[in-house]
Amino acid sequence: MTSAAPASVNAPDAAAVPTVGLVGWRGMVGSVLLQRMAEEGDFARIHPVFFSTSNAGGPAPVLEGMAGDPGVLQDAYDVDALKALPVIHTAQGGDYPQAVYPKRRAAGWDGIWIDAASTLRMADTSVIALDPVNRGVIDAALANGTKDFIGGNCTVSCMLMGLGGLFKAGLVEWGTAMTYQAASGGGARHMRELLIQYAELGGAVRAELADPASAILEIDRKVIELQRDGLDSTQFGVPLGGSLIPWIDSDLGDGVSREERKAYDETNKVLGLTGADRIPFDSLCVRIGAMRSHSQALTLKLTRD
Ligand code: NAP
Repeated sequence: MTSAAPASVNAPDAAAVPTVGLVGWRGMVGSVLLQRMAEEGDFARIHPVFFSTSNAGGPAPVLEGMAGDPGVLQDAYDVDALKALPVIHTAQGGDYPQAVYPKRRAAGWDGIWIDAASTLRMADTSVIALDPVNRGVIDAALANGTKDFIGGNCTVSCMLMGLGGLFKAGLVEWGTAMTYQAASGGGARHMRELLIQYAELGGAVRAELADPASAILEIDRKVIELQRDGLDSTQFGVPLGGSLIPWIDSDLGDGVSREERKAYDETNKVLGLTGADRIPFDSLCVRIGAMRSHSQALTLKLTRD
């Protein structure tokens, strides 16, 4: 697989390795991905072209193992620049594929689209990629000409990484998951918001905290007052600092949130199970005021002891 890089990118070895467009590389998912790719020496195996939705023309990142000058950031909304690439990897919010993906396919682009957002996850034309668990599904999709490979929901992926063997062996009759999800699941701006909230909450009672004899109920009263009325909660919608949010994502109207529904939909899709073969899976998803790492408690009904 080869392709020309956009002209502004100085890429002497671009013809020797596949060119991969990277969109959303500085967010939470993108940063972890780049770190991991650098650790695994991936930048010697691909020629990366970096895109931005906010800073086109700015400097592209320089990463360990990268050959040549990465050049400048390309405009992530420039369909012609994207169209020139055989592979695009994006870790942007769901609005991005919604805005760009149909235009690119309509313009005749036939490349591989790898995406972290949920927008295209359940589409019939895409596969949810979790290769340690469903490599067979991915290989079959590649052989069948599938072009869209979408990363799964974080907690569903974590669960399947741990329990994939039980599912694959047909040992799970049904299950429930109770998830306690960190701010990182919302992205970089959510993590910053949480920290700012904690800083403000701590600041509001600094004097009382410095005095071991101060009354805890007075500290609590001041904290609650600030939580209710004084914290910027633009990202989460309500304050998470010192609290939790018993609901993640949108309301599906049947008492279930979209996040909770993903456990059923995505688990079955990752495993390639359809129709009557699908495994019932229910969830309760809570956002907690932790920075990173989700926790979950699982109850599984097994098909045998
Ligand atoms: P994110 O941290 O919000 O980053 C997405 C993009 O937002 C960045 O690439 C960047 O794009 C822009 N951005 C704006 N302000 C930023 C700032 N202060 N710091 C960093 N980036 C900023 O989102 P994410 O958590 O990585 O999620 C990306 C996609 O993956 C989403 O669709 C999400 O639903 C999905 N996903 C997330 C997780 C998770 O655990 N976070 C797990 C599975 C799937 P520009 O550089 O173009 O400005």
